[in-house]
Amino acid sequence: MTLIVAKFGGTSVANVERIKAVADIVIATRKRGHQIVVVLSAMAGETDRLIELAGQAATTPDSRELDVLLSTGEQVTIALLSMALQERDYPAVSYTGGQVQILTDNVHNKARIIDIESARVKKALTEHKIVVIAGFQGIDESGNITTLGRGGTDTTAVAMAVALNAHECRIYTDVDGVYTADPRIVPAARRMDRLAYEEMLELASLGAKVLQIRSVEFANKYKVPLRVLSSFEEGRGTLITDEDEEMERALIAGIAHNRDEAKLTLRGVPDRPGIAGAILGPIAEAGIEVDMIVQNTGVDHTTDFTFTVHRNDFAKATVLLGKTAQELGAAEVLSDDRIVKISVVGVGMRSHAGIASKMFSALAAEGINIQMISTSEIKISVVVDEKYLELGVRTLHSAFGLENGSAIMNDAVG
Ligand code: ASP
Ligand code: MG
Repeated sequence: MTLIVAKFGGTSVANVERIKAVADIVIATRKRGHQIVVVLSAMAGETDRLIELAGQAATTPDSRELDVLLSTGEQVTIALLSMALQERDYPAVSYTGGQVQILTDNVHNKARIIDIESARVKKALTEHKIVVIAGFQGIDESGNITTLGRGGTDTTAVAMAVALNAHECRIYTDVDGVYTADPRIVPAARRMDRLAYEEMLELASLGAKVLQIRSVEFANKYKVPLRVLSSFEEGRGTLITDEDEEMERALIAGIAHNRDEAKLTLRGVPDRPGIAGAILGPIAEAGIEVDMIVQNTGVDHTTDFTFTVHRNDFAKATVLLGKTAQELGAAEVLSDDRIVKISVVGVGMRSHAGIASKMFSALAAEGINIQMISTSEIKISVVVDEKYLELGVRTLHSAFGLENGSAIMNDAVG
């Protein structure tokens, strides 16, 4: 018998009616002959509500106590699903993270899973039970409740799938899979049938918010097949696995965008060793993460240095850069938070030349100016004015033929 781990997110368990619909899916999976372990989120909005309550009790709630509080959301849904399954004569048992023994480090509010003691779950499975586990939480060495950070239930599910050597980890959500672009921007965006772990990792870190990044890293490391699918309608969803030939033949898997970044430029800094360190040192010390970095070729012993940070850090970074500018005797600081990053992602880039030039000329044909460019082995990102977000994403989506699945070099593959 094959084992499936199935995770249901907040909107899939938003109320008792939805929880009963989850019970239907669980029972159907079981009827197809699978053993099943269910991992649940709290009801949609519940974790936010609890955080809000904590904020009313204390200005800076203690992180240990916050975890005691936040872990209750998932405890509600697991009990309700077990009851709903039992009501239909299916044996089910719920466990909190602590009861399973999902061992984490002691970093409250963003703990990492160290080990899972799977004996209790395995025993329940041999007794033909449906095991329902609270996501997003664990327990540290000293028995304190910990939580894994927002969206952490995805990671619980993948970690359980690894610990139990499951056949597949299914992530049920309110969309029917991963799309070639955000369908709110590109109505012609398509659900992808398959995607490589690395592509999903890039898409997730570039702004696609389907899965917690850490869960994909975990799945990739242990090679657990991940499937993203809807709990609201039937379908095959998107399967995320190791890359294969078909994925390599495709030019591009999808287009991601991110409106959360802002751009800072230091103009006319002396072009000498140590400058990049001097500029980014204070930024790093302030705990601000830098994403893209561009330094121009020096002319007349000076150069321009541009980088991007998260918009939340923009004000702070601007002040810090102002100080650095004075110290280095730079000409001026230019800052712009009205930018977006648009990226094309695909493992096909490894074997196809010319993707960058295709991307740049498609944008140019629409009069979209590129302000910054960065590349990795399987992605190309550009920064453009935020007013071009929609146009840019749509242009690239059609330039690479994503709306009809024709981003494939070899016509035999459809
Ligand atoms: N309930 C937690 C959150 O809202 C964990 C999860 O849903 O994955 O972030
Ligand atoms: Mg989620």
